Amino acid sequence: MAEPELVDVVVVGLGVGGEEVAGRLAEAGLSVVGIERDLVGGECPYWGCVPSKMMIRAANALAEAHRVNELAGSAQVRPDWAPVAKRIRAEATDTWDDKVAVDRFTGKGGRFVRGSGRLDGPNRVRVGDQVFHARYGVVLGTGTRPSVPPIDGLADTPYWTNHQAIEVEELPASLLVLGGGAIGLELAQVFARFGVRVTVIEAADRVLAVEEPEASALAADALRADGVEIHTGVKAGRVSHDGSTFTVHADGAEFTGEKLLVVTGRKAHLEELGLDTVGVDAGQRYLPVNDRMHVTDGIWAVGDLTGEGAFTHIAMYQAGIVVPDVLDHMRRTKGGPDASGTASVVGGAAGVVSAVGGAMSAGGSTAAPGSVPVADYRALPRVTFTDPEVGAVGLTEQQARERGVNVQVGYADLTSSARGWIHKTGNAGFIKLIADADQGVLVGATSAGPAGGEVLSALVVAVHAAVPISQLRHMIYAYPTFHRAIEDALRALK
Ligand SMILES: Cc1cc2nc3c(=O)[nH]c(=O)nc-3n(C[C@H](O)[C@H](O)[C@H](O)COP(=O)(O)OP(=O)(O)OC[C@H]3O[C@@H](n4cnc5c(N)ncnc54)[C@H](O)[C@@H]3O)c2cc1C
Repeated sequence: MAEPELVDVVVVGLGVGGEEVAGRLAEAGLSVVGIERDLVGGECPYWGCVPSKMMIRAANALAEAHRVNELAGSAQVRPDWAPVAKRIRAEATDTWDDKVAVDRFTGKGGRFVRGSGRLDGPNRVRVGDQVFHARYGVVLGTGTRPSVPPIDGLADTPYWTNHQAIEVEELPASLLVLGGGAIGLELAQVFARFGVRVTVIEAADRVLAVEEPEASALAADALRADGVEIHTGVKAGRVSHDGSTFTVHADGAEFTGEKLLVVTGRKAHLEELGLDTVGVDAGQRYLPVNDRMHVTDGIWAVGDLTGEGAFTHIAMYQAGIVVPDVLDHMRRTKGGPDASGTASVVGGAAGVVSAVGGAMSAGGSTAAPGSVPVADYRALPRVTFTDPEVGAVGLTEQQARERGVNVQVGYADLTSSARGWIHKTGNAGFIKLIADADQGVLVGATSAGPAGGEVLSALVVAVHAAVPISQLRHMIYAYPTFHRAIEDALRALK
């Protein structure tokens, strides 16, 4: 076996987070080995955000065309999946070929190795017969894979995960969707709008169970209006497939469909990473990190793997912390100045930053100028790209109450706002604000409706910067925008 090869940094898994870290460290002049066993870029560009949003864009175009009948004459719409499947191949994924992404990384000076990497003791990573010794550290960005529940019979059937759903070229006549979370609902609505008979089966008592109950009701109503059958509080007990039809047996009922999509969550596969060789417990659901993404000495983790939120923007945000921290670690190892001591930790998800003295005194994730930033997830935004979109930031009402916050709630219905009324068909939505009455700041908000994810940005700023509610009440909201409903919700706070 070859001697370990000495490099500066090894990045295992070049998904969203790993590719960003590896590319930026290579651009900074470090010798970086990036290891990827599948496609550089990871889930988001090939089987996640990008192709699913292309599908949603197409499905929403169909829905808008149907709205012509109520607003602007008449339109006949004949859905055709072929352009969608073609666009996903031609524009999003290069038919699941990562040459462009590999070139992007090597063009920055990185060295690419295709294969499965695993830790092989402190600072060492093995890929097949090759072993790398990382002078300054190892970054793990190995993401998650679909978590398939142990339902009797399921493993023996040709069920779909998000991969097959994104790659589909010929739509089935009917589809069962196991899981009513964000991914399940987005895909269910897309396929329904293209004429597939869709049934969603969710074990919790509502879809989008992690969001506000009002968001769950809104999304369920919207999907039902598109013809989706939704069954909540239903636990699948057994799954069978007779060669052409899936049957889900649940609580005395049976649901059938030509295809079955399983979207019941995601799981990090820590057992594959050799964590035992560095004294880290691999028997956990996710890999815990501190606020600088440290797993243990010389090892950082980034992205879905950390369990801090399965979003591309979390992976990118964390990469923005890992890169300066690794560079800082390198400087300290070489005996240079230490920037780390000046970093200040701000509250965790439950923490509320004191806003005395106005917005400028509010905390954020960036510490003093020139120092290494630390993670702050208080204002974590998330968007479910159904139509209407459900955007949310920070705490839900229930989470805030559970954390002992002195909660005030402000709610405004979008349909009765000026813009909602003008918009007419497709105008369902709301703004819900969760305030900490003691601190006088918002700690959470939901913005649902047309462009709900875009309207969310104002609320993210408010939560992130702990902008005093008194200031939010006395700013000018353009008329007649959807975001003007934020002002109505502020007025309704009680
Ligand atoms: C259908 C769907 C829609 C989504 N939509 C959105 C959205 O709209 N917005 C959003 O923010 N997020 C969305 N997401 C989530 C987003 O895709 C993930 O949060 C993001 O991809 C996480 O990036 P990551 O770098 O942590 O992991 P990944 O992108 O999963 O990348 C991890 C990489 O590591 C590789 N790997 C794993 N183990 C090893 C190993 N041992 N050696 C070498 N390589 C390894 C894998 O092959 C993979 O390429 C969506 C996800 C899905 C499934």
